[in-house]
Amino acid sequence: MAIIWPCPLTSSSYAAAGQRIVVPAQACPSCSRPLTGWGGYWRWVRSERLPAQRIWIRRGWCARCRRTQAFLPSFLFARRLDEDAVIGSALTLAVGGRGARTIAQQLAVPHTTVRDWWRRMRTRAPMLLTSLLALATSLDPAPVSLRADGAPGVLEALESTWQRARQHLDARIPDRWAFWSLVSGGLALAPNTSPPFPP
Ligand SMILES: [Zn+2]
Repeated sequence: MAIIWPCPLTSSSYAAAGQRIVVPAQACPSCSRPLTGWGGYWRWVRSERLPAQRIWIRRGWCARCRRTQAFLPSFLFARRLDEDAVIGSALTLAVGGRGARTIAQQLAVPHTTVRDWWRRMRTRAPMLLTSLLALATSLDPAPVSLRADGAPGVLEALESTWQRARQHLDARIPDRWAFWSLVSGGLALAPNTSPPFPP
């Protein structure tokens, strides 16, 4: 189980902090009780034009639910090695009609990885679209006009929802990809089919 927290740091600054990384207090997603520190683990993150970096992921423990939660910084999606901006660039290029191999070369990631992100987004497009539009209209009741459906529609909906969140919630909201990870609990591109956006 993972909680995405709004991390203001870049992946490099985060990596440089090592195990001294500070995560704001987090609540248990099931019972809302504050989680207590429960060590952590090392994992890798791959960012554009940087060698893979090892980062420390803190973990919290809920004594009532007897469950640990990993605190993932918002520049990550759950179970994805690459930073959100890399995934976002790849999806934007794919929507623009670029092929997986070209994108992979440009971003220096394996083309099978690009193909997987793209396939995931296309498969989940109806659900992703519904969730984003619900969030957008909860922030501002004006309807969101989309010029496309499917994967291109998802990116359009993400853009509108992100703009509304910046306008109505907080202008310091992170970039659109980190925002997507935050609102989807890191699961926007996850293989499972459960609703990606927790209440
Ligand atoms: Zn709990």
